[in-house]
Amino acid sequence: MSKRLIISNLMIVVIGLMSLPALRAQISTQSSSIRISEYRDDPYVAESYIGRIDASRFGQDDNGHPFLSGDRVSIIGEDFIFRQNPTTKIFAKFAWNPWPKDGRPNEKGNFKFADEVRFPIHEIERDADGKPLLKDGLQVWKPRDLHLGMTTAFAASNAARDAAEFWAGRDIQWGEKNGILEIESQVFIDFNAFYSPITRSLHFGVAPYRLPGETQIKMFETATSWEMVAHEAGHAVHNVLKPNHVLGDQGFDTWGESFADQTEMWASLHDQQRVRIVLAETSGNLYTSNSLTRIGEAFAAITGKVTGIRDAFHDKKISDTTTEVHDRSEVLTGAVYKVFTLISNELKSQGLDEGQALTEAGDIMGIFLTQGTDYAPENSMTLEDVGKAYLKVDKELYGGRYQIMFADEFIRREIFDANSVAEWMAHEAAVPDLYLPQHVSDEKMGKLVQANLDRLGIGPDFGLKLQSVRREGRFGQTIVRVQLTRGRGSDAALLDNHGILTFRADGTLADYHSPLPSNSSSQMQAQSNVQAVALINQAKRSGLDPHGGLLSIVRRPDGQLAVEARVMRSEGIYCWIEAYTMEHPEGERREVIIPTVPGNLRGIQPSGVEILSPDDLNQR
Ligand SMILES: [Zn+2]
Repeated sequence: MSKRLIISNLMIVVIGLMSLPALRAQISTQSSSIRISEYRDDPYVAESYIGRIDASRFGQDDNGHPFLSGDRVSIIGEDFIFRQNPTTKIFAKFAWNPWPKDGRPNEKGNFKFADEVRFPIHEIERDADGKPLLKDGLQVWKPRDLHLGMTTAFAASNAARDAAEFWAGRDIQWGEKNGILEIESQVFIDFNAFYSPITRSLHFGVAPYRLPGETQIKMFETATSWEMVAHEAGHAVHNVLKPNHVLGDQGFDTWGESFADQTEMWASLHDQQRVRIVLAETSGNLYTSNSLTRIGEAFAAITGKVTGIRDAFHDKKISDTTTEVHDRSEVLTGAVYKVFTLISNELKSQGLDEGQALTEAGDIMGIFLTQGTDYAPENSMTLEDVGKAYLKVDKELYGGRYQIMFADEFIRREIFDANSVAEWMAHEAAVPDLYLPQHVSDEKMGKLVQANLDRLGIGPDFGLKLQSVRREGRFGQTIVRVQLTRGRGSDAALLDNHGILTFRADGTLADYHSPLPSNSSSQMQAQSNVQAVALINQAKRSGLDPHGGLLSIVRRPDGQLAVEARVMRSEGIYCWIEAYTMEHPEGERREVIIPTVPGNLRGIQPSGVEILSPDDLNQR
């Protein structure tokens, strides 16, 4: 009774602030949400709960029933379960997919599957000798009427996109077409999941395991981990916000793992129940490991290693980590988590209650996360560049309020060296003085770029082609992307190098990152121009064939400039890059798919749980 009263009071406040059409929209969405079962972390943490998702997010079948396939996310039932060849990485068919192949609701027209078994048993059809039965050479697993992998994947990915759009102030048109992210919720055998940059879709593994002392095999669906799904969705978001990143770039991929973990963490704080759980667990002191910082607790439950796949609460520095992208990414995640706790405390001291402070601090971190993409170099970047982007977001959007918090933490963790802040300031001072007139058309924008090539550090042998103009609605910034050309004019050859200009709401240029890998000083830019011309000429003389790709000027790990061409290759759901360089004119393969869990899990784990391989499934 009293609860109802509070709600109706709230409604009056809301009515006071909203226009009538907005209010109607609000009421209609409230009345047309659909119930959906999902795990908050994963089955090893707690039972599933029943959330609600706006009805408009679902598709409809011919009878008007909702479907787990909407205008943002579409759950795809593959016909087969694949196994990955550990050497070639290619996926081959292994079994027929026993999960329901479509995202249909229950008989009540919703996605509440509250009675579904939490730790399902894996059963295989066998012949008279007890050997796995093969149909067309593939194992036949007994059908399982399990929906929580699909529903959790649908809920978590929608939540990640909602949060990211809220922070970034723009539509995030992920996926291959029409802004729809396709998700294969059960598609291969492994405790793993990945985002494919070629199909722009998500793929989730299933992991067979046996508990100590038990003979039966159980099957964990990674899609039932809200955190793993939101992490993968974070990769899809990052790819939209940084569309020109070099595939397989060590710096982008390292940032990407932190970006994905952070998308999951900060988005999860939009769930008020999650906020209450975190506060209860930590007694309000966030400076400790908790269910927010622990990512993928199922991993810990099954393997007995650490607290999850990763844990954002730690004190790791660059020198404590390897160059492996997940490992190195933790340094950034740990640094921003520390700042998150400081901001949350500050908000509390300003009078917000604990729950509000947590969600608000999470949103501030989400804004840094997504808006930071507008302030980092476009093709390749280092964690130091990302750290500088945080300082820039702070300067532009928060008046420098958090600069010391971030800078101290980045220095302490070795993301910054002693010169980083000074370098960032020098970069700031070198941003050209450009002005974007209001309501500028793309054509006019293109002309503005052409008129300012010199100021943008583009030498006479190069030009810029306008790639895109995007406006974001949160702070009113305009993000302009340009592509480098060899020579100038409409028939100039495109190079695979991109620059980014971010204009403030008042039209002044806030930041510029050149398409040439260069330092901020104009002298270095001039040198890069000259070197780049020489390298391209040399590449052409020695017959470096782009093989259908574009030539690209890159900075190698040793600091030297080089020219290369990159081409995407794929087989089935796997893809990689073939890179043609002066050292390897015949091409060298670079991996671009990064599984969430580094390394393959096989055999008996420290927990005593045995993780089975496809070969094990063949034998028993
Ligand atoms: Zn990842």
